[in-house]
Amino acid sequence: MLLDQQDSDSPRTVALGKVQRLGRRAFIVSAAGAVSAIAFWGLRRSTIAAARPLAANEGPATVTVVEFSPTGEKTGTVTVPRIIRTDADWKKSLPAASFWVTRHADTERPFTNDQWDARERGIFRCICCNLALFNSDARFESGTGWPSFWQPIAQENVVDTVDGSLMVVRTAVSCRLCDAHLGHVFNDGPAPTGLRYCINSVAMRFVKLG
Ligand SMILES: [Zn+2]
Repeated sequence: MLLDQQDSDSPRTVALGKVQRLGRRAFIVSAAGAVSAIAFWGLRRSTIAAARPLAANEGPATVTVVEFSPTGEKTGTVTVPRIIRTDADWKKSLPAASFWVTRHADTERPFTNDQWDARERGIFRCICCNLALFNSDARFESGTGWPSFWQPIAQENVVDTVDGSLMVVRTAVSCRLCDAHLGHVFNDGPAPTGLRYCINSVAMRFVKLG
């Protein structure tokens, strides 16, 4: 305001002052944006922390899962020891992106890895332990940039866990056999279930039906 009064007889200077003020305002706006982005990131990290895979001393020693043949047929239900490995072991055996997503509940950037041909039929298996997780028959295009399914291949093969903070409550999905974090499930999916399993592509490998 003081600047405007001082330079009221000089349109050029006033205009410049306006530009400077706009510049300051734009800076303040973008700084606020950065703060909320950081706050969102913090929220995301704290939410992720709540969804970490089970430790070796947590959860059951054995699990019951459903097995599928290479042709996609259900071959039976088996009860087997839960797969428990050290963080160092997982790190050695997995690509970095898969390690951070499955063992530390990170989230891949959308539209980065989901390059599977939607017309191909097959089974999406756990990148860590090979357990069958989703069938391509239940896949749909959600527009989110992450592979999306309206149901798992067998309810026994995944675990839903409430994953929340004070502001966001979601349901995390993990592999029954090895506790790999896979993604989240939401209630805005298509019929017949109305569910949307939003899964990180680096948590799975696609095996074409033989
Ligand atoms: Zn697994």
